[in-house]
Amino acid sequence: MARKLAKSTLERFGKRLEEEQERLQQLIEEYERELEVARMTESSSDRSPDPGNAEASSMKLEYAKELSIEQNTLDLLGKVQHALSRVRSGDYGICERCGEAIPIERLDALPYSTLCVTCASKT
Ligand SMILES: [Zn+2]
Repeated sequence: MARKLAKSTLERFGKRLEEEQERLQQLIEEYERELEVARMTESSSDRSPDPGNAEASSMKLEYAKELSIEQNTLDLLGKVQHALSRVRSGDYGICERCGEAIPIERLDALPYSTLCVTCASKT
């Protein structure tokens, strides 16, 4: 039976995860604003087509890049929120797949991990 984390340790990681969640949500809001600007720029350049407009195509590239960054951030946010739900249920620090304890060093490095190194390397 894997040991559960001490309450104080759980609280410490819970706090870190909450801070991370907040930071990621702010980042996503920023991306949303930037994407909104990019969308507006894009539609205005559509109204006045200018072949060979390098600026417009680089805007499109930026836009695509922002979208993928936002997607990564959303993925990360999902992991953080999932880990937070494990903190609340008291299962944080226990591998979801094999039920073994996740080393504290791993949690320190990746507070949102809910799998041990062995199980994570299998996915
Ligand atoms: Zn495992």
